[in-house]
Amino acid sequence: RCGFVAIVGRPNVGKSTLLNHILGQKLSITSRKPQTTRHQVLGIKTEGPVQAIYVDTPGMHEDEPRALNRYMNKAASSALIDVDVVVFVVDQMAWTTADELVLEKLSRLKCPVILAVNKVDKIENRDALLPHLDMLSKKRDFAEIIPLSALRETNLEPLEQAVGRYL
Ligand code: GDP
Ligand code: MG
Repeated sequence: RCGFVAIVGRPNVGKSTLLNHILGQKLSITSRKPQTTRHQVLGIKTEGPVQAIYVDTPGMHEDEPRALNRYMNKAASSALIDVDVVVFVVDQMAWTTADELVLEKLSRLKCPVILAVNKVDKIENRDALLPHLDMLSKKRDFAEIIPLSALRETNLEPLEQAVGRYL
């Protein structure tokens, strides 16, 4: 099985860190030509019979929320048409209007959205995590919700396995 995976989220939640640690390499995002290529392949991760192709979807990966807006508005419901799974990254206990905006843009998407709750290494009060995850679970019918730390490489395997299930 193989398929395309897009990692989305507001700036600073740890998308680049996550990609770098999943792919085990430092990514250099070069300039794109959206007119000629829908997606830029960032890397391919092969794990047994599963190949996940991580792509940079225009406006989805850069630290400019308005670019996401522009892209999604332009492409409307055909946005991410050949993406099989979306990984929506948020920053542990913080839920902001910028996250809400990304969620809103994703609402048109039919493909499974996995919520990656990043930076859990920063959480001091572990008891607070469960109610927070419960709150997040009501935001959308997420395919899965996975708390992780991209920086410390905690729980990256469950995320990759979840991605594999939807390819
Ligand atoms: P992006 O804008 O979504 O691509 O976010 P970056 O990957 O550039 O990360 C933004 C900041 O968050 C950087 O300083 C990262 O080192 C930090 N960061 C990313 N992942 C983690 C994590 O799991 N734990 C902690 N504590 N910091 C993280
Ligand atoms: Mg980045």
